[in-house]
Amino acid sequence: MTTGFFWDEKCFWHAGGNYALTLPLGGFVQPLAAGGLPENPETKRRMKNLMEVSGIVDDLSMRHADPATWQDMARVHPETYLTAFKEMSDAGGGELGLRTPFAKGGFEIAALSAGLAKAALLAVLRGDLQNAYALSRPPGHHCLPDWPNGFCLLNNIAIAIESARAAGLAQRFAVVDWDVHHGNGTEAIFYDRGDVLTISLHQEANYPLDTGAITDRGRGAGEGCNLNVPLPSGVGHVGYLEAMERIVLPALAAFKPDVIIVACGFDAGIFDPIARQLCTAETFRLMTRQVMQAADALCGGRLLLVHEGGYSEAYVPFCGHAVMEELSGSPHTVPDPMADTVAKRQPNARMNAVFSDMIGEMAAELGLAG
Ligand code: ZN
Repeated sequence: MTTGFFWDEKCFWHAGGNYALTLPLGGFVQPLAAGGLPENPETKRRMKNLMEVSGIVDDLSMRHADPATWQDMARVHPETYLTAFKEMSDAGGGELGLRTPFAKGGFEIAALSAGLAKAALLAVLRGDLQNAYALSRPPGHHCLPDWPNGFCLLNNIAIAIESARAAGLAQRFAVVDWDVHHGNGTEAIFYDRGDVLTISLHQEANYPLDTGAITDRGRGAGEGCNLNVPLPSGVGHVGYLEAMERIVLPALAAFKPDVIIVACGFDAGIFDPIARQLCTAETFRLMTRQVMQAADALCGGRLLLVHEGGYSEAYVPFCGHAVMEELSGSPHTVPDPMADTVAKRQPNARMNAVFSDMIGEMAAELGLAG
């Protein structure tokens, strides 16, 4: 069966200005030549462009999708938030939360971004595609029901999950969030739910500064269905794969989902400007292989990756291409041009042993054999 790739040029037209990286302009903060938040279109558009140049697009089902409907969005976000967002968008744009600026029409672009994730999930669950990637932008995993933050205006994955549930296509959903930041929005939305497993691997105390503790395990029916894996700065290829192997995969096996959804950020990558982890294109390839094997074992291979963060314009395309090669098995491969360099810049064996001990302690604390 085929791998789907869901994208839309309009998603690259979402605009967030008046920032230099994550610093609001003003005072002593000079505008950058390139301008705006690190969440800029080029980190995504260049991934798609590389896929065109390599020819891998010929081996994928390249698709557009309708925007998420108001009803789709209202299953996750209160009408008061959606109305305020729509009105400000119609009036010329603005900002409703923390680091979430948008231009006129930003509401429609955010709805389209969620619509790509929704359509991709429905296609996988209907058996129309084996697996899929949604190049959603703006991203979604930080967005709470009524509070946009961290570049996220709607929670794309939550909207997709609730749409799939409403369509009667699945009952149990697992979200693996390997974006370098804590998936605080997805956690908040599903914190009381026993039918959605949320797992976040993140750099501790990056963003948000005060969420993502390992002790936050869910509440009520959701007790035990939220797993946070806060990794210290400097974890690289070996540590990420080990955390997947010893924590994420056992948790997925215990939960037995109907489908696995990855919040796929590339900001744990070694060249990311706003995080300090050391993952490489090969790390993302092998993490993709790990979740594919889990999906094969647990849920008929049903797997969706939804794009989140990742802010190295030069390097994200190679990480993304490696993921698409793995998902599709395409022979149109692109070697990582930085492979030798990034392999040499990994933590040394002594540091990896320290990280391994910490991962083992976290696995034990989370009640996994580890
Ligand atoms: Zn991120």
